[in-house]
Amino acid sequence: MKKNKKNEAVQKEVPLSNEELNMLRKSVASEKVDRSKLPHYDNSDKAKFFRYVKKNKFFAAICILLAVCVVVLLALCAVMAIKKAAAERVNTDDYTVILGDRKYTVKYKDAVRGDILFVDMYKVAEYAQMTRTGSTSSVKFTAQNNNYLRFENDTDTAVVNGCMVELGAKAVVNAEVCEIPLDFLIKAMGSGNGLKISLDKDTNTLKITRRYYKTDDGDITGPVEILFNTDSFDVLQQILRVEKDRKYEYGINVDGYLSNIDPENAEDYLILANKETPLGSDYAPSDLVRLECKTNRDMQLRKDAERALYALMLDMAASGIDDTFITSAYRSYSYQVGLFDKYVGEHISEGMTKEEAEATALEYSAKPGTSEHQTGLCVDFMTNSMTDLDESFEDTAAFRWLSENAYKYGFILRYPPDKVDITGYKYEPWHYRFVGRTAATEIYESELCLEEYLELN
Ligand SMILES: [Zn+2]
Repeated sequence: MKKNKKNEAVQKEVPLSNEELNMLRKSVASEKVDRSKLPHYDNSDKAKFFRYVKKNKFFAAICILLAVCVVVLLALCAVMAIKKAAAERVNTDDYTVILGDRKYTVKYKDAVRGDILFVDMYKVAEYAQMTRTGSTSSVKFTAQNNNYLRFENDTDTAVVNGCMVELGAKAVVNAEVCEIPLDFLIKAMGSGNGLKISLDKDTNTLKITRRYYKTDDGDITGPVEILFNTDSFDVLQQILRVEKDRKYEYGINVDGYLSNIDPENAEDYLILANKETPLGSDYAPSDLVRLECKTNRDMQLRKDAERALYALMLDMAASGIDDTFITSAYRSYSYQVGLFDKYVGEHISEGMTKEEAEATALEYSAKPGTSEHQTGLCVDFMTNSMTDLDESFEDTAAFRWLSENAYKYGFILRYPPDKVDITGYKYEPWHYRFVGRTAATEIYESELCLEEYLELN
């Protein structure tokens, strides 16, 4: 029993007595322990980290994963940077242009200006059998279905089917070339169109070929239509086109006049005569006829314009306006010369020099050749209550009626108040011009003047 008690006391770790401690110290001191054989206890940060990692395996796995991600990301960035550098490396080789069977070279400096690759539309149009019209500084290319592109020299806009859009750079149009940005042509063509355009930047080869419809057996049935569209552009200005089945309401039966109001050769009536583009001294229409509507003297117009005007005046009278007549229509070049000389002479007799007299006459009278009246397509209206051609015509019932109905007869208000800068003429509410019903409707609805309309056509 006594022995057991002693054991319990030891287990409770009773502090050693001094005697026992001395014995223990002696015993340890006498032992020869080779400390160099003991493992070195590494207390560096690195060792601490690895001991930490050993204890926290999940944390270690996350760290490794993160490290791998960083390496992969860096590798990807490097690859992309190399690719980008390769893409940005400008290939300044001369361009090889393949147009169907034809192949030719264009010097790099001639093909590329300001980082933009240009293509000669004359050559493309010739290959794609587009119709080319216009002048040497303004040219129109018409493809199937009357789809067209229009470019003007030194101008950074183009016209696509009546819509003015940005070209991306200034076009160069002259007798030899019509250079436009290739990107514009690609955008205007859209996808799946009649022309296939591909550019290989490694070899600087531009290839333009026609697309063909093929049967399931691979037989070619014909070329795919070439059409243009403005889907990829912001339209700056546009003509509102007349719908084919558009209905017009008239106050009279116009059946007998429709072929005049809406003539087949409508483009013949879109002639422009203004200060910038005067008619020659020898310009005189060959189909002039005498006006049969109410006038204040004998005068003439071109036949379709005369018939359309006759119907218009009938309609106006039918609506209760019967005080209106025509005071001016066709004026020949020689008539304009006589009139202008008369005005100048009057001012000279007032004491002006010839130059002063001419300048003064020009303020109210057109220089010979610049009057639209020489076209035989325009008239000046007057009413019994008006004694002069001035803006008071705006207050007449005739003017209100013309404003709403003239276009139905193919006539437009030629010099609107908000287009003075473009037409070069002050507001003339009495002066109406025949352009045919389709153009007149498009001009009326687009609120364009004739100059703007012709630019978009
Ligand atoms: Zn006039």
